Amino acid sequence: MLEMVPPHARRRPVGTGSAASFLALLALAVQLSAGPALAQGTQLADWSDADLATAGALRDRALKGTSAYEHVSSLVTEVGPRLAGSPGDEAAVRWAMNRLGKLGFTGVRTQDVLVPRWIRGTTEVTLLGPAAQPLVAATLGGSIGTGEEGIEAQVVEVASLEALTAMQAGDIRNKVVFINQRMERTKDGASYGTTVKNRTQGASAAGNLGAVALVIRSVGTSDERFAHTGRMTYDVSAPRIPAFSLSNPDADTLSRQLKTNKQLRLRLKSTAREMPPAWSANVIGEIPGTDRAGEIVLLGAHLDSWDLGQGALDDGAGVAIVVEAARLISRLDRKPSRTIRVVLFANEEFGLSGAKEYARLIGDEQAKHVLAMEADTGIGPVIRLESQVAPEFLGAIEKMRAAMQPLPIEGGSNNASGGADLGPLRSLGVPVLDPVLDASLYFDVHHTMNDTLAKVDAKVLDQTVAAYAVAAYLAATKQGDFGRLAPVPFNR
Ligand SMILES: [Zn+2]
Repeated sequence: MLEMVPPHARRRPVGTGSAASFLALLALAVQLSAGPALAQGTQLADWSDADLATAGALRDRALKGTSAYEHVSSLVTEVGPRLAGSPGDEAAVRWAMNRLGKLGFTGVRTQDVLVPRWIRGTTEVTLLGPAAQPLVAATLGGSIGTGEEGIEAQVVEVASLEALTAMQAGDIRNKVVFINQRMERTKDGASYGTTVKNRTQGASAAGNLGAVALVIRSVGTSDERFAHTGRMTYDVSAPRIPAFSLSNPDADTLSRQLKTNKQLRLRLKSTAREMPPAWSANVIGEIPGTDRAGEIVLLGAHLDSWDLGQGALDDGAGVAIVVEAARLISRLDRKPSRTIRVVLFANEEFGLSGAKEYARLIGDEQAKHVLAMEADTGIGPVIRLESQVAPEFLGAIEKMRAAMQPLPIEGGSNNASGGADLGPLRSLGVPVLDPVLDASLYFDVHHTMNDTLAKVDAKVLDQTVAAYAVAAYLAATKQGDFGRLAPVPFNR
């Protein structure tokens, strides 16, 4: 793993491993042999002074106020929730086509994508016994329903997915498993990665041991009564059981009751059901480059959302950030030499259908994708700039970060994922830049009915747009590229 070089360092960063050091030396040797192309001693000039000045002006322009809030507001007001394959999803595709067209993007087009179609129906979770009461719950995305008759059974609490898989079938058979693990609040949302497996894998782990249903503590940080949905999956070989989440306060209630009543029972009812797959689409629009128009800097976000809220943060904000960053660049006098391509992906939430289809359809054009960036963690601001580029280009990433100042953005690692929708592209070898957004408050509302426009702060959104616009503009004007990553199989 490589760390960023400090801003003052002019030399190429050298990796901790000997292979990375060798690569860095090799890169230096290649540059030394390049002769006439060299500027500033042994280093290629990544950008002209005019490019850097334009990036600075672009940043200042964005910080004065952008139209990003207006884009989110329009999406959630005119479309609202847009679960993959739903009428809202279809409306979102139409909205995006119109919006990109009106904003002056060129080559506005769709790519048809087949998406799974799941309907939530109604959810009822009731605590039985002496303190009987309804609990605030959500059916997890992709769960089967319970049937009209519902399910009533005793509850067994476990601390984590690992604790569940270590249990014996005798402890769990014919019971409801309750995974009670709290997601911790962190600035970069890292705790999501450790708790989300309860949601994705819990039902099959419990089903394998003979449980009749799964209930988890919401994978979210809110102390309010908002249950968190999100995708779950079934192992092919495991019995399928319905899966629910409880809001954090309701998970507390259940756990407290269980301390004094081991026989406690729950009644669960869900009318969730799967429908045949439906058509959706990726929506694409471009800001054309000048002399290297065939080369692409990709800005991605996803157009679909969960059904409970309005998808204002997830991922209306991301859509607004990338659309507005590209729009601001299109208004510059000094045009970028590469094309900036905005891709609004279909169905991220239910299995990355749009991202996979985009990567499948690009064919040889993948080699022309110079850098890809995604926005999918709310409004921001950007707190850290991570990347996954060929190590010899980390100096350029550092200069991009410097161009974002005075925004207080730290340097980060060079092993960034770049985001879910960039996975298939990254696996083809496309380098990624990953502006890490402040997610301290994001997981309070993510995937809940509280994901509404009320949580979008226009000023913060403008700061994020400023960072994305600077990065996209510099990537689209840079002399030379960011190298390529080693291709790896994509399995998700
Ligand atoms: Zn998202």
